[in-house]
Amino acid sequence: MNLEKIENLLGDEPSYRLNQVEKALFKDLIDSWNDATVLPVKLREKLEKEIPITFDFKTVTSLKGNSIKAVMELRDGLNVESVLMKHTGGRNTVCVSSQVGCPLNCIFCRTGKIGYLRNLNHYEIVEQVLFFSYYLKKAAKHAKKIGALKTYEPVKNIVFMGMGEPFLNYDNVIKAIRFLNNKDKFNIGARHISVSTAGIPEKIKKFSYENMQVNLAVSLNSPDDKIRQKIMPIALKYPVKEIIDAIKFYIGKTNRRAMFEYIMIKDLNDSDALAEQLVKLLGGLLCFVNLIPYNGENCDLKPTPRRRINKFRSILENGGIAVTERFRFGEDINAACGQLIYRKT
Ligand code: SAH
Repeated sequence: MNLEKIENLLGDEPSYRLNQVEKALFKDLIDSWNDATVLPVKLREKLEKEIPITFDFKTVTSLKGNSIKAVMELRDGLNVESVLMKHTGGRNTVCVSSQVGCPLNCIFCRTGKIGYLRNLNHYEIVEQVLFFSYYLKKAAKHAKKIGALKTYEPVKNIVFMGMGEPFLNYDNVIKAIRFLNNKDKFNIGARHISVSTAGIPEKIKKFSYENMQVNLAVSLNSPDDKIRQKIMPIALKYPVKEIIDAIKFYIGKTNRRAMFEYIMIKDLNDSDALAEQLVKLLGGLLCFVNLIPYNGENCDLKPTPRRRINKFRSILENGGIAVTERFRFGEDINAACGQLIYRKT
């Protein structure tokens, strides 16, 4: 859908029309503009003709059926990917992309291999969520029709962990978050929205002032600058200390708990010594560590074996650091962390 066209199309209409149009689409998930009965018939016809409710997305479903990857074709022919993760109990999370490609080129992440093509505007970000909202609604309708028990479960959580570095597209990401959070639009609770950054200190500080209850995650991946530089080129610009100082500032301002993501790569960042260093670095901070098993097929990198993850985890926990582990979704459809790279087939 060409959402950018909405504002232009409303040209001379009174200003409250935009809200009505957006509410009909994002909140009521109308099937056709003809169903938006609050709008004048002429406008409905115009919308139906100019911006029909259709999506340029292709989907692939994982074998287990709990994750669905969607490829969105943008107006300029470029593509981005988003992933729907269906947790047991009906909690639906959408992982959205914020850029086409990514300029950071972390060695473990396939998105970086495409390089950076462009930023997404806020409409292109929210359209990824809109698509999955319609998708879920349609799936529930179908299930009901064939007698399978299924109620419509809306999208409840958003993670900015798809393609791109959200803080290098800061303004559009903030706009998209406000859109998603808006009661008359998606109405997704701020606490159910998470932004993950590779760690850009000045943007972390800026984010502290946004007055939003959104979760912040930092891809730390190592407490050691040298190792970090080896796997994340952006670490050459920002040392760990600067990132931690920015996070301290963020916690001080927002009183919110920060998440540190830690991808576990065999013999690279998973030693006892690094776990101990991490305890020292994060001790006393309002935070937790999210361990992510490395996914991928880069022959130089291997995932940390289970026993090593357990040992690393226990060192952190014994040191007083809270730890969670990320559940792996969608490996078989290249939809897991770090696997988003659109290839035309
Ligand atoms: N640019 C942002 C968001 C995208 S990456 C960031 O760096 O945070 C989201 C998360 O996926 C990051 O924590 C990253 O460390 C993780 N990730 C990337 N590639 C991965 C891979 N191959 N295996 C496991 N996790 C990966």
